[in-house]
Amino acid sequence: MTNAELWQAALGEIELSISKANFSTWFKNTTILSKENGKVVIGVPNGFAKEWLENKYNTYIFRALRNFQEDIKEISCVIYNLDQPATNSDGRKVDSIAHASIGGKSIENPYAYAPGQSMATQASYSQKPHENNINHRYTFENFIIGENNELARAACYAVSQNLGKVYNPLFIYGGVGLGKTHLLQSIGNEVLEKDASKKIKYITSERFANELIDSIRNQTVNDFKATYAAIDLLIIDDVQFLAGKEKTQIEFFHIFNALYQINKQIVISSDRPPRAIATLEDRLRSRFEGGMIADIGQPDLETRMAILKNKAAEKNFYLDEEALRFIAENVKNNIRELEGALNRIVAGCEFNNKLPTLKFVQQTLAEIISAGKKKGVQTQHIIEAVSQYFNIPIKELIEKGRKKEVSYARQLAMYLMRKELNASYPGIGSQFGGRDHTTAMHAFEKVSKDIEANEKIREDVAMLREKVYAL
Ligand code: ADP
Ligand code: MG
Repeated sequence: MTNAELWQAALGEIELSISKANFSTWFKNTTILSKENGKVVIGVPNGFAKEWLENKYNTYIFRALRNFQEDIKEISCVIYNLDQPATNSDGRKVDSIAHASIGGKSIENPYAYAPGQSMATQASYSQKPHENNINHRYTFENFIIGENNELARAACYAVSQNLGKVYNPLFIYGGVGLGKTHLLQSIGNEVLEKDASKKIKYITSERFANELIDSIRNQTVNDFKATYAAIDLLIIDDVQFLAGKEKTQIEFFHIFNALYQINKQIVISSDRPPRAIATLEDRLRSRFEGGMIADIGQPDLETRMAILKNKAAEKNFYLDEEALRFIAENVKNNIRELEGALNRIVAGCEFNNKLPTLKFVQQTLAEIISAGKKKGVQTQHIIEAVSQYFNIPIKELIEKGRKKEVSYARQLAMYLMRKELNASYPGIGSQFGGRDHTTAMHAFEKVSKDIEANEKIREDVAMLREKVYAL
């Protein structure tokens, strides 16, 4: 077994035991540089990856390698530059992993901005006031780190310290209200703090689309493009809204490539991974997937409590441990709701001139929760949400089809009906073209069991749940 083969095999094992986002983030562009006397040296693209592989993934790597070669005793990482391929101890050129190349910087781009054009841009750009849309409220300092967001946070921080150099593009995804915008904005603030002359632009993809349409109407498309060509850091929030907007995607693709080619940093967020954005142009999807992808998951109780404590302190509002815990235990879906609950409690206390006792907190939350229930989610909402999320027509979801993708989506829909609405099994079966109640029961049990071990299912369920309540 050559070193390259050993690493491929080990990567295969590692890939099965960690999330896709983590895997592609940390193991991309890695390779075995040497293996001697049971000591394996792994080449990694930067110090950031070195730290994570050595500290967090050490045991995974060790276990995976020892599966194939029991005599491995020690592993270490060194920073290794893919542009200057190293040789391994056999004196042969080192192979990097198959899907590894993000070094593919020399993309053909007929739309690249000519040098003269971009200089002109610089000049006209500096005459305008800089509209970077960065909100000072969102910083790394006031972002609480938890298991759910540590990868995304670390990735954003690394990017802020090495614009255009470490991970480009950086793609952050996660459900509503989990801190994507906060992190994206933090990058902007951090960069500006270090160097106020950096040109930054934060924009939601929706606004991007609108501005583009305006510029087409006003015949100022060239100005529009030129403005973007002069940017050091482009942050596009909620890119899922570009789904289906073909013309906008094409323009965005050109702007993206022009920046990417000259190593300008691009950061993107979405409520789901690139592969799950329906009707995203393939070449745009593969650009997104070519960089780093990091996810933000649901915060656990501890993280929710830490965030709540911090937000209360920012408002100079004191809540005792019991009250904090009660709120964090009852508001679980996302941080925005958690903040909403806190705001209601603060306002309630001020208005009634009361102290935030546990009893007061319980009463206020009960009101918020029952108001939420009145929103009246029904089985139809769930079917719609699943249909949209997986981009499967409702008819197909309900009818007999046995395509793997469709039956997976259908099982999740059945699971959610039971879990969220406590619907009866025969009732669920009848929603799906009169299927037997045992089918619904089986789906519920299967998903309940699989969700424990499978990160992807957990992610799909969490996003669907949010979608259901947002519809
Ligand atoms: P998203 O963009 O993912 O929908 P936001 O970034 O708008 O979510 O976050 C919603 C709210 O929750 C914001 O006020 C943000 O400051 C707060 N928030 C989210 N995650 C954290 C965190 N880890 N620490 C502190 N505040 C957070
Ligand atoms: Mg947001």
